[in-house]
Amino acid sequence: MHESCGVFGIYAPGINVAQTTFFALFALQHRGQESAGIAVSDGNGIKIHASMGLVSQAFTETDLELLKGHIGIGHNRYSTTGSSRPMNAQPIIVKSEDLTIALAHNGNIINHKLLRDELQERGYNFHTSSDSEVIANLILASPGQNWQEKIEYAMHRLQGAYSLVILTENKLIGVRDPFGVRPLCLGTIDSGWSIASESCALDHIGARFIREIEPGEILVIDSQGVKSFKKEDSKKALCIFEYIYFARPDSIIQGKLLYPTREAMGRILAEEYPVDADLVMGVPDSATAAGIGYSNASGIAYCEGLLKNRYVGRTFIEPEQRIRELGVQLKFNPLSQIIAGKRLIVVDDSIVRGTTTPHVVSLLRKAGATEVHLRICAPPIRYPCFFGVDMATRWELIAAKKTVPEIKEHLGADSLGYLSLNGLIRAVDLPRDIFCLACFTGAYPIPVQIEMDKLALEVLPPEELSEVHL
Ligand code: SF4
Repeated sequence: MHESCGVFGIYAPGINVAQTTFFALFALQHRGQESAGIAVSDGNGIKIHASMGLVSQAFTETDLELLKGHIGIGHNRYSTTGSSRPMNAQPIIVKSEDLTIALAHNGNIINHKLLRDELQERGYNFHTSSDSEVIANLILASPGQNWQEKIEYAMHRLQGAYSLVILTENKLIGVRDPFGVRPLCLGTIDSGWSIASESCALDHIGARFIREIEPGEILVIDSQGVKSFKKEDSKKALCIFEYIYFARPDSIIQGKLLYPTREAMGRILAEEYPVDADLVMGVPDSATAAGIGYSNASGIAYCEGLLKNRYVGRTFIEPEQRIRELGVQLKFNPLSQIIAGKRLIVVDDSIVRGTTTPHVVSLLRKAGATEVHLRICAPPIRYPCFFGVDMATRWELIAAKKTVPEIKEHLGADSLGYLSLNGLIRAVDLPRDIFCLACFTGAYPIPVQIEMDKLALEVLPPEELSEVHL
């Protein structure tokens, strides 16, 4: 499962904004590994560099030196809408006769096809297949005396999830959709300001976290300081998967540090699904805190049973068949001397397709584990995400097709326990109605009618879809 993107923005005269943005993107690398880009303005024009690959692969020192200015935005991309091509790397620059903006987007726009058709009819050109270009053109095409009015108008037309950083020649603008699906926060840096998908990016560059940008809020930052614009409060739908998996455990969302929240998920899993065993382990890195929580609550010792090869991220080197067949072994190495002869409780963040977990179970058994009891920090995922998370179509989701006992058999585990929805809400310790829980419940906060029609069919594999009459 992949999150779609990480975004960052900075307004800070006197600071090397390109280099600071580079290091902030480094801290947000977990949100997208496909491409990275930075755009800066010195007040007279916007310069950009974007390239495929990890942040460390996308920029040379010379690239950064050429990006001179006092305002900047940056982006790490994992593609959801729009294919994986260099032209879809962000930020993107869009121009009209008299206006230019660069924009970086985290989320997914559900009605982007309709908006694109409308804008094309009005003469707007598109150079990429991404929904982010639709947002940027829509803002330029919107009526209004200033950026705030244009963005407000565009927000009425956009359906979906969007946390945006926008660069004009002399302003940095942050925007969060009215549901607040994706996170976005504000910090100070020296005498300037920064905006980031997650607070961990602020920590790493020496910025100070101030607050989260509110759902539906527009922040305009320029030489006059920060101005906030927000219409009335609407229903929130924050993505609960930020707490389970996407965000880093050292980030703060809704005033909560994620590490203890993940520990609580493990603690509650131990209450809901106790089992007699010798050792508890979390699948690194996302389930480590939950594993420790399970261990503390159950009194069963914690161990690191799998070590993760942290640098086996995205690579453009296509592995040969022999290497491909190693599968999860390329990523995880079991500590056989620790786990041999032991009954293990293995805590993991979630199960999406159910394709990786059987290999993890088998790796642990080959290393000598006598029993493998899986405990999962999320309820069964039965519905796909339309808000910027690349999960799967519905027919690929294992919990949409199989019962929990069938999934247990498929995974080869001795037992399987999914955290209940109530247990998850207890762990997060915030009101249930501020969250999107759609991938568990199918109750989408934003209308997704067109996709829902397809969804009804997508529970079938593609070969059987052809036999369904529309
Ligand atoms: S459907 Fe699931 S992954 Fe998508 S936004 Fe909602 S909670 Fe997050």
